[in-house]
Amino acid sequence: MKTEVVSAQECAKAIKLLRDGEVVALPTETVYGLAADALNPDAVAKIFEAKERPRFDPLIVHLPNREALDEIATVESRLARELMEKFWPGPLTIIFSKREIVPDIVTAGLETVAVRMSAHLTFHEVVRKLNRPLAAPSANQFGRISPTTAQHVFDELNGRIPLIVDGGATEHGIESTIVQVANRVIAVWRRGPITDEMLRPFGEVREQTSPVTVGAPGQLPTHYAPRTKLIVVESLREFSPPSGKGIGVLCFSSVGDATPFAVVRQLSERGDPRQAAANFFRMLRELDREDLDLIVAERLPEEGIGAAINDRLARASARFDPSSRA
Ligand code: AMP
Ligand code: MG
Repeated sequence: MKTEVVSAQECAKAIKLLRDGEVVALPTETVYGLAADALNPDAVAKIFEAKERPRFDPLIVHLPNREALDEIATVESRLARELMEKFWPGPLTIIFSKREIVPDIVTAGLETVAVRMSAHLTFHEVVRKLNRPLAAPSANQFGRISPTTAQHVFDELNGRIPLIVDGGATEHGIESTIVQVANRVIAVWRRGPITDEMLRPFGEVREQTSPVTVGAPGQLPTHYAPRTKLIVVESLREFSPPSGKGIGVLCFSSVGDATPFAVVRQLSERGDPRQAAANFFRMLRELDREDLDLIVAERLPEEGIGAAINDRLARASARFDPSSRA
C-alpha cells in the first residue's frame, strides 16, 4: 500500500476513506492519531493491524459533537458534566459506561468506553463532517515513541496506511489526560495536558493504581520506548558519565557542562514545562536517531505537566532499568 501525505486543506480525502472503512492518520492537539469509524469493527481492526497493537488495549473514541456522547455512553455523574463543560473540546478523555452500540474491539471487551472531543481544527472538521465517532489511538507502532508530526507518522507507518493528513506539529505534544469520575473523586488513569492542579477545583484527585490489564497501556510499565538505551536521572549535575561512550542528553532548561555529551537536546530554553511537553517526543526521537550508546534524560519538577512528562520518561526507560518507578 502506498501512503499518501496531504495538507489539512485536503481533508475531504480523509473523510471519504473513513466512510469507506479505512484508517487515516490525523493531527490532534495532543499527538497524531490513527483514526477509523468507531462503530465499524472491521475498520477498527485495521488500526490494531497497522499499529501491531495487542487487542487487549482499548481505544479512545472521539466525538463529532456533544450530543453523540449519549449514543455511545451513559453519563450519570454531575462531576463528569462539569469537567466536559470546562475542558471540552480539549485534551481530556473521560471514561464512561458504554452502550451496546460500541463494538467490543474498541473497548477490548470492557464495559466502559474512553471518550474525548478534540479541539484541533482539522480533526474536528473531519469528525464533524463524517458525523460518526472515530476511534483514534496514537499513530505509532505499539509501545514506541508517540508521533507529533506527519513525518513521524510516515516514518512509523509508511506502507501500512493509505493517508496521513499533515496539520503541522501538534500543540501539546503528549497524550490526553485520562480520568474516570465517581461521586466527587477524579481518578487519573493517565497524566497529560490537563494537570492534577487544573482538575483539583472540581473534586478530589487520585492517581489510579489498578492493575494495568484493566485497560490502560498508557499505564503499561514499558511504553513510549526509544531503541537506544535510556536512563532517567534526578539531576545531571549528579550524573557521572561513563567514559568512552556516545551519550546524548535530554535536559529540561539547561545542561550545565555539556562537554561529556555527544548531543544535547534542551526541552525548553525558558524553563517552560508546556514547551517541554510539546518538544518531548520529537527530541527523544531525534536522539534515538543519533546512533548513541546511551540517552540520559533529566526529570522535570514533579508538578503540572512536568509530572506527565516524568511519567512518560519512567515508562520509556523501564525496559532498560528494572528498578525504575514505572
Ligand atoms: P492511546 O490512544 O494509544 O494513547 O491509547 C489509549 C489509551 O486510553 C490507553 O492507555 C488505554 O488504556 C486508555 N483507555 C481506553 N479505554 C479505556 C477504558 N475503558 N478504561 C481505561 N482506560 C482506557
Ligand atoms: Mg499510544
